Amino acid sequence: MLSKRVALVTGASRGIGRAIAIALAEDGLFVIVNFTANEAAAAETLEACKDKGGEGALLRFDVADAEQVEKAIKQIATEHGRLDVLVNNAGIAINGLLMRTKKEDWARTLDVDLSGAFHCAKAAARYLLKAEHGRVVNISSVVGEQGNAGQVSYAAAKAGLIGMTKALARELASRAVTVNCVTPGFIETDMTDEHLPKEAREGLLKQIPLGRIGRPEDVAEAVRFLVSSRASYITGQVVRVNGGLLM
Ligand code: NAD
Repeated sequence: MLSKRVALVTGASRGIGRAIAIALAEDGLFVIVNFTANEAAAAETLEACKDKGGEGALLRFDVADAEQVEKAIKQIATEHGRLDVLVNNAGIAINGLLMRTKKEDWARTLDVDLSGAFHCAKAAARYLLKAEHGRVVNISSVVGEQGNAGQVSYAAAKAGLIGMTKALARELASRAVTVNCVTPGFIETDMTDEHLPKEAREGLLKQIPLGRIGRPEDVAEAVRFLVSSRASYITGQVVRVNGGLLM
């Protein structure tokens, strides 16, 4: 069994997931970098973890596939003897106004963003309960709190994640496992690049009191704190990292 705490970060090949993986590795956790397709990008994340003096491993699986998740988490337990921290970060956004949203897009968004976190939490729970201070952090979104036109599926999934966080926090509290949610505002990643046109970006900046789009590291700092022993009395909470966009 590894002496270090073991953390699984889903969707860690780029963006916010990569920044979280690096922060946790820097704090001395052994980080499992999950990815689906881009192994080279995931390997870059792992290299960046090592540059910070950290350790970790790559693990390919699709969070939306319950069987793959179950198998992958068993593999972590077999190879490393423990799983202390789960960060449900993997997510997709398939945007479009309701009338144009296909039921397949609705279903895929829910499958990845909400059911993905459910599959991972379910498979990880038995190991988290054995950990000294088990942690779950779900990456939701400001959109799950206040909605956004053109993001009905995404908002539903991210709001669902907040409910799931609170229910699971109550279930696991007796064993000192904390479960929290982080709701980022607008963060500079490939996801926002793909979905946010320039004019929308300028309009948005005006609504952010701190006057800038967030960085993946801004989110990672909150996660770093929530998984640490310093956050042992915080559970079932929604931690906003949004530059003041929503207060
Ligand atoms: P991103 O698209 O750069 O990263 C998402 C990651 O999830 C990618 O590595 C992708 O490969 C992975 N992923 C997607 N489907 C997967 C699956 N089925 N199984 C495993 N991995 C999968 O986006 P990001 O901006 O870094 O977003 C990370 C998380 O933060 C997401 O949950 C997103 O909804 C949330 N978020 C992002 C923002 C933002 O402004 N960027 C704001 C609020 C919330």
